Amino acid sequence: MSDKVKTIGVLTSGGDSPGMNAVIRAVVRSGLGKGFAVKGIERGYAGLLNEEIHDMNSHSVSEIIERGGTILYTARCKEFYTEEGPKRAAEICKEHGIDALVVIGGDGSYKGALALSKYGVRVVGVPGTIDLDIACTDYTVGFDTAVNTAMEAIDKIRDTSSSHERCSIVEVMGRSAGFIAIACGIATGAEDILLPEEYDGNEQAIINRVIENRKFGKKHHLVINAEGVGHSTSMAKRIEAATGVETRATILGYLQRGGSPTCRDRFLGSLMGNHAVELLAEGKTNRVVAIKDNHLTDFDIDEALAMQKSVPKDWVQIAKNLVR
Ligand code: ATP
Repeated sequence: MSDKVKTIGVLTSGGDSPGMNAVIRAVVRSGLGKGFAVKGIERGYAGLLNEEIHDMNSHSVSEIIERGGTILYTARCKEFYTEEGPKRAAEICKEHGIDALVVIGGDGSYKGALALSKYGVRVVGVPGTIDLDIACTDYTVGFDTAVNTAMEAIDKIRDTSSSHERCSIVEVMGRSAGFIAIACGIATGAEDILLPEEYDGNEQAIINRVIENRKFGKKHHLVINAEGVGHSTSMAKRIEAATGVETRATILGYLQRGGSPTCRDRFLGSLMGNHAVELLAEGKTNRVVAIKDNHLTDFDIDEALAMQKSVPKDWVQIAKNLVR
């Protein structure tokens, strides 16, 4: 592989997130601006192995910044967990003249990028996930849109819950990280917020609070439950049986992934996509773009993957303090 990058590939991988299109647009336009050829790869690593590769020009990314989802589609790809998958993918990159790849996705996607880099393809990751669970960065593209979508839905559920004096459990996304739950919980004034990192399974404590709050005169009780805790429907039945308060569960599900990205996701997605191209232009590889303390920066992929992140304990305490 020659020293200088000539052609950049771009793909989206793992779960989609609003704002991925802003990143793709920035990669294409910044790449072209630096004199690179840019190729779009559809359906993540699966599409790379199937050679779903096409040239991109400035017009290819017209009128996409305001669109949710990803114009390149996304997929998961089992072959990438094998020795053969990344090796074959690197050969395909070579055949198509792709010497560098921008991978927009989460931690799993960076592991795939790392495997590919072992065969000589330069790689840069950009954090695109609604979960905010990438440890090296304070922000991941898609989080802001997802929490605003969830917050608006929860506000509506809260209106009808108050009218009927119900308890409501709303399940939001977040399998192992509770960032969406804590942000939505604080923003909607939830009485209980159940995080995968924190919840100890003490349902009796929730039941006691529902009863206490009723005595105190509260007309409703809102529980925000993270997907990683789950069991919202059975939990609702048990809470209703124990308290006598009508309790309904709503699982927000995939609607949290869709919709037109917020300004924050378009803006930061654009900066991050541009940064990825700048790194490649500087001859760097195996980096993940990040935002730390309001500054655009980047980390070695290995270093980024070794970092840990969970919801700060003080946010959990603040959430509790604010509903008293
Ligand atoms: P999110 O979790 O936000 O949906 P992600 O990028 O972490 O995003 P994953 O499904 O974990 O999503 O990874 C996306 C793809 O990256 C996988 O389908 C697989 O092709 C590749 N990948 C993940 N982990 C590895 C690994 N350890 N080695 C090689 N490739 C991997």
